Amino acid sequence: MKVRLWGVRGSIASPGAHTLRYGGNTTCIEVRSNDNDLIILDGGTGIFALAQELLKELPIKANIFITHTHWDHIQGLPFFTPLYIPGNALHIHGPFDPVTNSGIEKVMDIQLQYSYFPVREAEMRATIDYTTMKMGQTVTVGGASVTSTLLSHPVVNFGYRVEQDGKSMFFTGDHEPPYNIYEPGDEDYEEFENIIAEKEHDIIAAMQGVDVLVADCSYSIEEYPMRRGFGHGTFDSSIRMARQAGVKKLVCTHHEPTRSDTQLEIIFAEALSRHPHQPGDPEIILAREGLEIEI
Ligand SMILES: [Zn+2]
Ligand SMILES: [Zn+2]
Repeated sequence: MKVRLWGVRGSIASPGAHTLRYGGNTTCIEVRSNDNDLIILDGGTGIFALAQELLKELPIKANIFITHTHWDHIQGLPFFTPLYIPGNALHIHGPFDPVTNSGIEKVMDIQLQYSYFPVREAEMRATIDYTTMKMGQTVTVGGASVTSTLLSHPVVNFGYRVEQDGKSMFFTGDHEPPYNIYEPGDEDYEEFENIIAEKEHDIIAAMQGVDVLVADCSYSIEEYPMRRGFGHGTFDSSIRMARQAGVKKLVCTHHEPTRSDTQLEIIFAEALSRHPHQPGDPEIILAREGLEIEI
């Protein structure tokens, strides 16, 4: 399998001189199976650059998996040029949204109202299919499989494990490790601890032993207390998670939009120094636009 990162920024696209090295586009990952089947994880603004590349190999068949429908993960979808070209086949997958009580088939429709976008979905000439996935469901794409896992975010967010012939990668989308909303001594504290332990166990099991884990590392540990409950992890929480799951390589992503390349490197180095390398530890790197990983 081949993994290529097209967008590594969280929350809002951040172009400019200060993000040149790591990139300013929001989340999008291209995964190619051993048979060159195309899997796209999230449709942030990074998907626009991917679209331009794909125009060289028309007609295309793509399976897009959306972790959740926050803007930074779907905003590039209406600009995904292959959608407008007859002969292309796009299959969009994602979770059910209990807030609007709708499936992933609304992801395009809701963005393509005339008030917000000049083209209607009906004018998209590619074949578009939608599948609203359940927790733990596996979808087969050629020789590869993609399995969803419920992670922890203010909306339903699926992490996806992509697997083929014993090689695998996992992408979290947005994930904040679950924490106890009660204080020690509160009546429900202990019960909530058990719920968290069970949830964490399931999450670690879902990413167990993957070759590559691309994980939400939005915050430094200094920033986190002010942003608890926003639904994002820290470098430290993702390093702990990667160690527990025995992953081989951790790719830290969803960079804070205000973070410059230099600040990012400083915060990353500080995080690494708090977790000195131990035998069996994953290799830990920063996600950057254009990074390619062969698994
Ligand atoms: Zn996000
Ligand atoms: Zn989000």
